[in-house]
Amino acid sequence: MRFGPVSLSHDHEIALISVANPPVNTINAAVRAGLRAAILEIEGMPGAAAVVLICEGSTFFSGADISEFSGPPKEEEYRDLFRQLEQLPVPVVAGMHGTVMGGGLEIALASHYRVALAGTRFALPEVTLGVIPGAGGTQRMPRLIGVEKTLEFILAARPIDVSAAINLGFVDAEVEGDMRTAAVEFARALLRGGQGVRRTADRSVPAESATPAIIERWTEQARSLYPNREAPFMAIRAVQAAARLPFEEGLRFETQIANEAKATVESQALVHLFFAERNTRHVPALPAAIEARRVESGAVVGSGTMGGGIAVCFANAGVPVTVLDASQDALERGLQGIGKTYDSMVKRGRITAEDKRRRMALIATTLDYRELSGADVVIEAVFEDLPLKRRIFAEVDAVAKPGAVLATNTSTLDIAAIAAATVRPQDVIGLHFFAPANVMPLLEVVRTDQTAPAVIRTALDLARRLRTTPVLARVCYGFIGNRMMEGYAREAQRMLLEGATPHRVDGVLEAWGMAMGILAVFDMAGIDVGVNVHRAHADRFPPDPTYYQADIALHAAGRWGQKSGRGYYRYLAGDRTRHDDPDALDLLRATARRLQVPPRDHSDAEILERCLYPLINEGIRILEEGVALRAADVDVVWCAGYGFPRYRGGPLYHADTVGLAKVHEGILKYRELFGAMHWQPAALLIQLVREGRTLRDWEAEREQGPAIKGATQ
Ligand code: NAD
Repeated sequence: MRFGPVSLSHDHEIALISVANPPVNTINAAVRAGLRAAILEIEGMPGAAAVVLICEGSTFFSGADISEFSGPPKEEEYRDLFRQLEQLPVPVVAGMHGTVMGGGLEIALASHYRVALAGTRFALPEVTLGVIPGAGGTQRMPRLIGVEKTLEFILAARPIDVSAAINLGFVDAEVEGDMRTAAVEFARALLRGGQGVRRTADRSVPAESATPAIIERWTEQARSLYPNREAPFMAIRAVQAAARLPFEEGLRFETQIANEAKATVESQALVHLFFAERNTRHVPALPAAIEARRVESGAVVGSGTMGGGIAVCFANAGVPVTVLDASQDALERGLQGIGKTYDSMVKRGRITAEDKRRRMALIATTLDYRELSGADVVIEAVFEDLPLKRRIFAEVDAVAKPGAVLATNTSTLDIAAIAAATVRPQDVIGLHFFAPANVMPLLEVVRTDQTAPAVIRTALDLARRLRTTPVLARVCYGFIGNRMMEGYAREAQRMLLEGATPHRVDGVLEAWGMAMGILAVFDMAGIDVGVNVHRAHADRFPPDPTYYQADIALHAAGRWGQKSGRGYYRYLAGDRTRHDDPDALDLLRATARRLQVPPRDHSDAEILERCLYPLINEGIRILEEGVALRAADVDVVWCAGYGFPRYRGGPLYHADTVGLAKVHEGILKYRELFGAMHWQPAALLIQLVREGRTLRDWEAEREQGPAIKGATQ
């Protein structure tokens, strides 16, 4: 019998519910309707002695359908459906495999017995999406493993394996072989052993697992793990209720909290980002017929910080890669760096020594450009120097095979000018990795006006294989991320000259949710790097004598950041902990006096606004110029690459949340105080405020940009 994606069959006295909703068996409306029909059918089935619930394909139910989050709440429907399953008058066995998360695990908890294939992983990751396990999870899990362990599991939000789940007590057994056969056999064994229904709802929560001290401890833990967040505390309230309310009442309480959680900015922002990240490879302007070129091997020119990391990305993805550098010494240093990266992965238990050996074997080194002739993609990562990069592209052009993608990892140089050093500018693209390349999940894919659509498609697909999130950008100074950082960093530095301390500025930013304050970021990246970039591009910047002068003063005093043990902060050898440094303050004060910067008292709100508004304003310009395809892409760049708090949805999502009018007003307020040089609202911001619209409205109504033209192969 079939009910949409759900089929019901018999194996003698066992009723078998099997679900096929590829690719990952999310519990969407069709699955819920099918399950309801199957349960009804079983209720009227006299011969059924047990029920087995399994899924076909790569996994048991992987979770709820997140695209339903924005629609009307579904909690009650889930609650009633899972309750119906639990109320069946015969034992119900869930047979699990794959990745069982959220609603997928909650339906298993509503079953009477749970078995899993080796390799299955389980999680209740809801709080990372700003919601709570709202389909019975907060009421059933404590009945199986107690309140304390449930809180630990929900707050960790990380998958655990079968043996951990058995130890915790919510999985009965690990089984082997074919899931269907194993689960049916388990059900038969239950019947043979005379074991009957075993409803989670009928169990009670061990009182000793829910003492006030335990709740306080996990609330404290939530405060430190999830500052500025609501969902974790809502989850604690719901789990705590399991210990004091009868089951049905507990379920209703859970539904109420789950609905409140879905209405928070945090949850909507996190769901926005979830879809934004999934959507970045979707480029409507690329002709539909475009196919990616095949990439079976790669090459990297330059084996320094970035080149080494990029080579590791290829090897991790199983793609052979050849690394070229200017000297044997440089190559050896590069290989050593790569070896260290793998050593630390082995040490942390991320990979085995054998994995390391296999991956290192995929990395070849050479000094000879001819050995790059077989590569399908060549990525240049040498010093940031235009004539040097152009020379390298000419060399690569002379040997690379026809159709190879030629990419540059430049941060600041004009990619069109680099492409012009070749006879095939259509094959040239920017692949802007972030450091460390093998860790950071972001890749800006930067196209010139000449980049062929197929090259863009290839880059977007390659990013996925390299386990990064690509965001397409057009060439401009700083692309999306660094361009937006310019004004943000400018204000942070200017406030130092006005008398704020690095500790104060970074503290306000971090308390608001930035992963790291901007001044600490500069210390980490190297003050010299920023100063060199500003020197090389001095003609681009406004004629402001205080512009980036904090950086320049530190640089001149040999304070280059963590690498020299001193920058905005002081560091002890071999330790990245920042310490306040009176010498840095003296230097900043002296610089301010020399430049005659008037001192100023800053409120926390001012520090935040002066950092955030330029960032948002530039993001809006990037959108109106078409440098980024969509506001959501800008949000992904800042959340994945620059530590912007995900629960605020990214800079442009945040701008819509607080209101464009407020951002606009703020910019005018600072223009009044500091002049128009740096404080000019973007034209699109002015327009939207005048029309009373949001960025979201504007995007929904705007015309699709022109198709990206060029050779399709
Ligand atoms: P790096 O100094 O660590 O490495 C540069 C490498 O290029 C060195 O191994 C050097 O030997 C090699 N090289 C120099 N001249 C060469 C030549 N003629 N032929 C072959 N190899 C040569 O620099 P990095 O930090 O890895 O930066 C590389 C590129 O990546 C730059 O364009 C930089 O702007 C960009 N980038 C850097 C970061 C970062 O955080 N470090 C982030 C994004 C992009």
